[in-house]
Amino acid sequence: MKNITVIGAGTMGNGIAHVFAQKGYAVHLVDTKQELLERGLLTISKNLDRQIAKGTITESEKEQTLKNIHATTDFNTGTAHADLVVEAATENLEIKLKIFSELCASTPAHTILASNTSSISITRIAAATRRPDKVIGMHFMNPVPIMKLVEIVRGYNTSDETTKTITELSKALDKIPVPCNDYPGFVSNRILMPMINEAIITLHEGVAGVEEIDSIMRLGMAHPMGPLQLADFIGLDVCLAILRVLFDGLGNPKYAPCPLLINMVTAGKLGVKSGEGFYDYSEGPKASKVSPMFLKK
Ligand code: NAD
Repeated sequence: MKNITVIGAGTMGNGIAHVFAQKGYAVHLVDTKQELLERGLLTISKNLDRQIAKGTITESEKEQTLKNIHATTDFNTGTAHADLVVEAATENLEIKLKIFSELCASTPAHTILASNTSSISITRIAAATRRPDKVIGMHFMNPVPIMKLVEIVRGYNTSDETTKTITELSKALDKIPVPCNDYPGFVSNRILMPMINEAIITLHEGVAGVEEIDSIMRLGMAHPMGPLQLADFIGLDVCLAILRVLFDGLGNPKYAPCPLLINMVTAGKLGVKSGEGFYDYSEGPKASKVSPMFLKK
Protein backbone atom coordinates (compact mmCIF):
# COMPACT_ATOMS: atom_id res chain seq x y z
CA MET A 1 0.00 0.00 0.00
CA LYS A 2 1.56 3.26 -1.13
CA ASN A 3 -1.08 5.32 -2.87
CA ILE A 4 -4.26 6.19 -1.03
CA THR A 5 -7.19 8.11 -2.48
CA VAL A 6 -9.74 9.77 -0.22
CA ILE A 7 -13.05 10.75 -1.82
CA GLY A 8 -14.66 13.77 -0.10
CA ALA A 9 -12.76 16.54 1.71
CA GLY A 10 -15.45 17.25 4.33
CA THR A 11 -15.43 16.61 8.09
CA MET A 12 -14.19 13.01 7.78
CA GLY A 13 -12.35 13.03 4.44
CA ASN A 14 -9.86 15.72 5.48
CA GLY A 15 -9.17 13.85 8.74
CA ILE A 16 -8.60 10.55 6.90
CA ALA A 17 -6.27 12.26 4.40
CA HIS A 18 -4.43 13.86 7.35
CA VAL A 19 -3.66 10.55 9.14
CA PHE A 20 -2.55 8.71 5.98
CA ALA A 21 -0.36 11.63 4.85
CA GLN A 22 1.20 11.96 8.31
CA LYS A 23 2.24 8.29 8.10
CA GLY A 24 4.00 8.96 4.78
CA TYR A 25 1.42 7.62 2.29
CA ALA A 26 0.92 9.49 -0.98
CA VAL A 27 -2.65 10.76 -0.73
CA HIS A 28 -4.97 12.00 -3.45
CA LEU A 29 -7.86 13.98 -1.98
CA VAL A 30 -10.84 14.26 -4.35
CA ASP A 31 -13.91 16.49 -4.06
CA THR A 32 -16.33 18.05 -6.51
CA LYS A 33 -15.23 21.70 -6.14
CA GLN A 34 -11.87 23.43 -5.68
CA GLU A 35 -13.21 25.55 -2.79
CA LEU A 36 -14.20 22.38 -0.87
CA LEU A 37 -10.69 20.98 -1.33
CA GLU A 38 -9.18 24.27 -0.16
CA ARG A 39 -11.40 24.27 2.92
CA GLY A 40 -10.36 20.67 3.66
CA LEU A 41 -6.65 21.49 3.28
CA LEU A 42 -7.03 24.52 5.56
CA THR A 43 -8.62 22.31 8.24
CA ILE A 44 -5.74 19.82 7.93
CA SER A 45 -3.22 22.66 8.24
CA LYS A 46 -4.95 24.03 11.39
CA ASN A 47 -5.13 20.55 12.95
CA LEU A 48 -1.43 20.02 12.24
CA ASP A 49 -0.73 23.39 13.94
CA ARG A 50 -2.56 22.06 17.02
CA GLN A 51 -0.29 19.01 17.00
CA ILE A 52 2.76 21.30 16.79
CA ALA A 53 1.46 23.37 19.72
CA LYS A 54 1.06 20.14 21.74
CA GLY A 55 4.61 19.14 20.83
CA THR A 56 3.57 15.89 19.11
CA ILE A 57 4.95 16.88 15.66
CA THR A 58 7.51 19.35 14.31
CA GLU A 59 7.07 22.14 11.76
CA SER A 60 8.92 20.06 9.14
CA GLU A 61 6.62 17.07 9.76
CA LYS A 62 3.69 19.38 9.10
CA GLU A 63 5.26 20.53 5.83
CA GLN A 64 5.95 16.94 4.75
CA THR A 65 2.38 15.85 5.65
CA LEU A 66 0.90 18.65 3.52
CA LYS A 67 3.31 17.80 0.68
CA ASN A 68 2.04 14.20 0.71
CA ILE A 69 -1.50 15.38 -0.13
CA HIS A 70 -2.47 16.07 -3.75
CA ALA A 71 -5.90 17.66 -3.96
CA THR A 72 -7.88 17.36 -7.18
CA THR A 73 -11.38 17.72 -8.58
CA ASP A 74 -10.51 15.26 -11.37
CA PHE A 75 -11.95 11.92 -10.25
CA ASN A 76 -10.04 9.81 -12.82
CA THR A 77 -6.64 11.40 -12.15
CA GLY A 78 -7.22 11.16 -8.40
CA THR A 79 -8.10 7.47 -8.44
CA ALA A 80 -6.06 5.99 -11.33
CA HIS A 81 -3.05 4.86 -9.23
CA ALA A 82 -4.74 4.07 -5.93
CA ASP A 83 -3.91 0.91 -3.98
CA LEU A 84 -6.73 1.82 -1.62
CA VAL A 85 -9.66 4.22 -1.95
CA VAL A 86 -11.41 5.41 1.19
CA GLU A 87 -14.73 6.96 0.22
CA ALA A 88 -15.91 9.65 2.65
CA ALA A 89 -18.51 11.42 0.51
CA THR A 90 -21.94 12.56 1.65
CA GLU A 91 -24.01 9.91 3.47
CA ASN A 92 -26.39 9.23 0.58
CA LEU A 93 -26.94 5.83 -1.05
CA GLU A 94 -27.27 7.11 -4.64
CA ILE A 95 -24.07 9.19 -4.37
CA LYS A 96 -22.13 6.23 -2.96
CA LEU A 97 -23.44 3.74 -5.54
CA LYS A 98 -22.40 6.09 -8.36
CA ILE A 99 -18.93 6.62 -6.85
CA PHE A 100 -18.29 2.89 -6.38
CA SER A 101 -19.46 2.00 -9.85
CA GLU A 102 -17.11 4.68 -11.25
CA LEU A 103 -14.27 3.49 -9.00
CA CYS A 104 -14.63 0.00 -10.39
CA ALA A 105 -13.83 1.42 -13.83
CA SER A 106 -11.20 4.03 -12.87
CA THR A 107 -8.96 2.05 -10.44
CA PRO A 108 -6.60 -0.89 -11.10
CA ALA A 109 -8.02 -4.38 -10.46
CA HIS A 110 -6.01 -4.83 -7.23
CA THR A 111 -7.40 -1.67 -5.56
CA ILE A 112 -9.34 -2.16 -2.33
CA LEU A 113 -12.44 0.03 -2.20
CA ALA A 114 -13.35 1.06 1.35
CA SER A 115 -16.25 3.19 2.53
CA ASN A 116 -16.29 5.35 5.64
CA THR A 117 -20.11 5.21 5.64
CA SER A 118 -21.72 5.48 9.08
CA SER A 119 -24.64 3.23 8.29
CA ILE A 120 -25.20 2.32 4.63
CA SER A 121 -24.92 -1.38 3.74
CA ILE A 122 -21.42 -2.36 2.58
CA THR A 123 -22.98 -5.34 0.77
CA ARG A 124 -25.24 -2.93 -1.18
CA ILE A 125 -22.31 -0.64 -2.05
CA ALA A 126 -20.21 -3.68 -3.08
CA ALA A 127 -22.99 -4.79 -5.45
CA ALA A 128 -22.35 -1.62 -7.50
CA THR A 129 -18.87 -3.00 -8.33
CA ARG A 130 -17.49 -6.11 -10.02
CA ARG A 131 -15.13 -6.81 -7.08
CA PRO A 132 -17.34 -7.20 -3.98
CA ASP A 133 -14.59 -9.25 -2.30
CA LYS A 134 -12.44 -6.09 -2.26
CA VAL A 135 -15.12 -3.78 -0.81
CA ILE A 136 -15.10 -3.14 2.95
CA GLY A 137 -16.23 -0.65 5.57
CA MET A 138 -13.38 1.34 7.11
CA HIS A 139 -15.32 3.46 9.58
CA PHE A 140 -13.13 6.10 11.20
CA MET A 141 -14.41 8.19 14.09
CA ASN A 142 -14.60 11.98 14.32
CA PRO A 143 -12.14 13.73 14.83
CA VAL A 144 -10.04 11.23 12.85
CA PRO A 145 -6.54 12.39 13.96
CA ILE A 146 -7.55 11.90 17.60
CA MET A 147 -9.99 8.98 17.80
CA LYS A 148 -8.42 5.52 18.00
CA LEU A 149 -11.25 3.29 16.74
CA VAL A 150 -11.70 2.04 13.19
CA GLU A 151 -14.85 -0.08 12.91
CA ILE A 152 -14.03 -2.68 10.24
CA VAL A 153 -17.26 -3.70 8.53
CA ARG A 154 -17.29 -6.95 6.59
CA GLY A 155 -19.83 -7.03 3.77
CA TYR A 156 -21.44 -10.32 2.75
CA ASN A 157 -18.77 -10.91 0.10
CA THR A 158 -15.75 -9.18 1.68
CA SER A 159 -12.80 -11.60 1.53
CA ASP A 160 -10.64 -12.62 4.47
CA GLU A 161 -7.64 -11.20 2.60
CA THR A 162 -9.25 -7.75 2.23
CA THR A 163 -10.27 -7.77 5.91
CA LYS A 164 -6.74 -8.74 6.99
CA THR A 165 -5.12 -6.03 4.81
CA ILE A 166 -7.39 -3.28 6.13
CA THR A 167 -7.01 -4.47 9.73
CA GLU A 168 -3.20 -4.37 9.43
CA LEU A 169 -3.31 -1.01 7.67
CA SER A 170 -5.45 0.48 10.46
CA LYS A 171 -2.85 -0.68 12.99
CA ALA A 172 -0.12 0.94 10.88
CA LEU A 173 -2.03 4.23 11.28
CA ASP A 174 -1.85 3.73 15.08
CA LYS A 175 -5.57 3.04 15.18
CA ILE A 176 -7.39 0.17 16.88
CA PRO A 177 -9.45 -1.86 14.39
CA VAL A 178 -12.53 -3.68 15.71
CA PRO A 179 -14.48 -5.96 13.36
CA CYS A 180 -18.24 -6.29 12.98
CA ASN A 181 -20.77 -7.56 10.43
CA ASP A 182 -22.76 -5.57 7.92
CA TYR A 183 -26.13 -4.58 9.43
CA PRO A 184 -27.69 -1.08 9.47
CA GLY A 185 -25.65 1.34 11.57
CA PHE A 186 -23.13 -1.47 12.32
CA VAL A 187 -22.39 -1.36 16.08
CA SER A 188 -21.36 2.26 16.71
CA ASN A 189 -24.30 4.11 15.19
CA ARG A 190 -26.93 1.50 16.02
CA ILE A 191 -26.24 2.37 19.65
CA LEU A 192 -25.18 6.04 19.41
CA MET A 193 -27.91 7.42 17.11
CA PRO A 194 -30.93 6.28 19.19
CA MET A 195 -29.30 8.08 22.15
CA ILE A 196 -28.82 11.30 20.15
CA ASN A 197 -32.37 11.05 18.75
CA GLU A 198 -33.76 10.54 22.26
CA ALA A 199 -31.87 13.64 23.46
CA ILE A 200 -33.52 15.64 20.64
CA ILE A 201 -36.96 14.20 21.52
CA THR A 202 -36.30 15.13 25.18
CA LEU A 203 -35.57 18.73 24.09
CA HIS A 204 -38.56 18.77 21.68
CA GLU A 205 -40.92 17.66 24.46
CA GLY A 206 -39.63 20.39 26.78
CA VAL A 207 -38.27 18.01 29.42
CA ALA A 208 -35.12 20.15 29.66
CA GLY A 209 -33.11 22.73 27.71
CA VAL A 210 -30.04 22.18 25.50
CA GLU A 211 -27.45 22.88 28.20
CA GLU A 212 -29.33 20.91 30.85
CA ILE A 213 -29.58 17.79 28.66
CA ASP A 214 -25.90 17.98 27.73
CA SER A 215 -24.79 18.74 31.31
CA ILE A 216 -26.75 15.79 32.72
CA MET A 217 -25.19 13.40 30.20
CA ARG A 218 -21.67 14.82 30.61
CA LEU A 219 -21.64 14.97 34.40
CA GLY A 220 -23.84 11.97 35.09
CA MET A 221 -22.58 9.50 32.50
CA ALA A 222 -19.00 10.78 32.19
CA HIS A 223 -19.51 11.46 28.47
CA PRO A 224 -16.85 13.92 27.24
CA MET A 225 -19.50 15.83 25.29
CA GLY A 226 -23.31 15.99 25.63
CA PRO A 227 -25.42 14.27 22.92
CA LEU A 228 -26.72 17.55 21.41
CA GLN A 229 -23.24 19.03 21.12
CA LEU A 230 -22.02 15.73 19.68
CA ALA A 231 -24.84 15.80 17.10
CA ASP A 232 -23.70 19.31 16.08
CA PHE A 233 -20.14 18.01 15.62
CA ILE A 234 -21.23 14.97 13.61
CA GLY A 235 -23.56 17.13 11.45
CA LEU A 236 -27.34 17.07 11.88
CA ASP A 237 -27.77 16.05 8.24
CA VAL A 238 -25.47 13.06 8.84
CA CYS A 239 -27.42 12.10 12.01
CA LEU A 240 -30.71 12.30 10.10
CA ALA A 241 -29.37 10.23 7.22
CA ILE A 242 -28.14 7.52 9.63
CA LEU A 243 -31.46 7.41 11.52
CA ARG A 244 -33.28 6.97 8.20
CA VAL A 245 -31.02 4.03 7.31
CA LEU A 246 -31.71 2.46 10.74
CA PHE A 247 -35.47 3.09 10.40
CA ASP A 248 -35.66 1.67 6.85
CA GLY A 249 -33.20 -1.16 7.41
CA LEU A 250 -34.47 -2.47 10.72
CA GLY A 251 -38.17 -1.57 10.25
CA ASN A 252 -38.62 -0.56 13.88
CA PRO A 253 -40.44 2.73 14.80
CA LYS A 254 -37.99 3.29 17.67
CA TYR A 255 -35.51 4.59 15.07
CA ALA A 256 -37.91 7.23 13.61
CA PRO A 257 -36.04 10.57 13.51
CA CYS A 258 -37.42 13.32 15.77
CA PRO A 259 -39.46 15.91 13.78
CA LEU A 260 -37.31 18.67 15.33
CA LEU A 261 -34.19 17.11 13.76
CA ILE A 262 -35.94 16.92 10.38
CA ASN A 263 -37.03 20.58 10.66
CA MET A 264 -33.54 21.76 11.60
CA VAL A 265 -31.92 19.95 8.66
CA THR A 266 -34.60 21.27 6.29
CA ALA A 267 -33.90 24.80 7.59
CA GLY A 268 -30.16 24.36 6.90
CA LYS A 269 -29.16 24.22 10.60
CA LEU A 270 -26.58 21.45 10.32
CA GLY A 271 -24.43 22.10 13.41
CA VAL A 272 -20.76 23.17 13.40
CA LYS A 273 -20.38 22.99 9.60
CA SER A 274 -23.23 25.46 8.94
CA GLY A 275 -22.43 27.70 11.95
CA GLU A 276 -25.56 26.78 13.93
CA GLY A 277 -27.29 23.73 15.32
CA PHE A 278 -28.28 23.27 18.95
CA TYR A 279 -25.46 25.74 19.68
CA ASP A 280 -24.24 28.87 17.89
CA TYR A 281 -20.80 28.61 16.24
CA SER A 282 -20.61 32.11 14.78
CA GLU A 283 -17.51 32.72 16.92
CA GLY A 284 -15.85 29.38 16.15
CA PRO A 285 -16.43 25.66 16.67
CA LYS A 286 -16.17 25.81 20.46
CA ALA A 287 -19.80 25.67 21.56
CA SER A 288 -20.11 28.53 24.00
CA LYS A 289 -23.74 29.58 23.66
CA VAL A 290 -27.01 27.89 22.97
CA SER A 291 -28.53 28.70 19.57
CA PRO A 292 -30.95 31.68 19.78
CA MET A 293 -33.67 29.38 18.44
CA PHE A 294 -33.65 27.43 21.71
CA LEU A 295 -33.19 30.44 23.99
CA LYS A 296 -36.61 31.82 22.95
CA LYS A 297 -38.42 28.85 24.51
P1 NAD B 1 -19.46 16.20 4.85
O1 NAD B 1 -20.78 16.65 4.40
O2 NAD B 1 -18.69 17.01 5.84
O3 NAD B 1 -18.48 15.95 3.59
C1 NAD B 1 -18.84 15.20 2.48
C2 NAD B 1 -17.99 15.65 1.31
O4 NAD B 1 -18.19 14.75 0.22
C3 NAD B 1 -18.38 17.05 0.80
O5 NAD B 1 -17.23 17.88 0.76
C4 NAD B 1 -18.92 16.77 -0.60
O6 NAD B 1 -18.68 17.82 -1.53
C5 NAD B 1 -18.17 15.51 -0.96
N1 NAD B 1 -18.76 14.76 -2.07
C6 NAD B 1 -20.07 14.48 -2.31
N2 NAD B 1 -20.21 13.79 -3.46
C7 NAD B 1 -18.95 13.61 -3.94
C8 NAD B 1 -18.43 12.99 -5.12
N3 NAD B 1 -19.24 12.41 -5.99
N4 NAD B 1 -17.09 13.00 -5.32
C9 NAD B 1 -16.26 13.60 -4.42
N5 NAD B 1 -16.70 14.22 -3.30
C10 NAD B 1 -18.03 14.22 -3.07
O7 NAD B 1 -19.70 14.70 5.40
P2 NAD B 1 -18.83 13.90 6.50
O8 NAD B 1 -19.39 14.18 7.84
O9 NAD B 1 -17.39 14.08 6.23
O10 NAD B 1 -19.27 12.40 6.15
C11 NAD B 1 -18.65 11.69 5.11
C12 NAD B 1 -18.91 10.21 5.33
O11 NAD B 1 -18.35 9.83 6.60
C13 NAD B 1 -20.39 9.86 5.40
O12 NAD B 1 -20.57 8.60 4.82
C14 NAD B 1 -20.65 9.83 6.90
O13 NAD B 1 -21.74 9.01 7.24
C15 NAD B 1 -19.36 9.26 7.42
N6 NAD B 1 -19.01 9.56 8.80
C16 NAD B 1 -19.27 10.79 9.34
C17 NAD B 1 -18.91 11.03 10.67
C18 NAD B 1 -19.11 12.39 11.28
O14 NAD B 1 -18.94 12.53 12.51
N7 NAD B 1 -19.46 13.41 10.52
C19 NAD B 1 -18.29 10.04 11.44
C20 NAD B 1 -18.02 8.80 10.84
C21 NAD B 1 -18.39 8.57 9.54
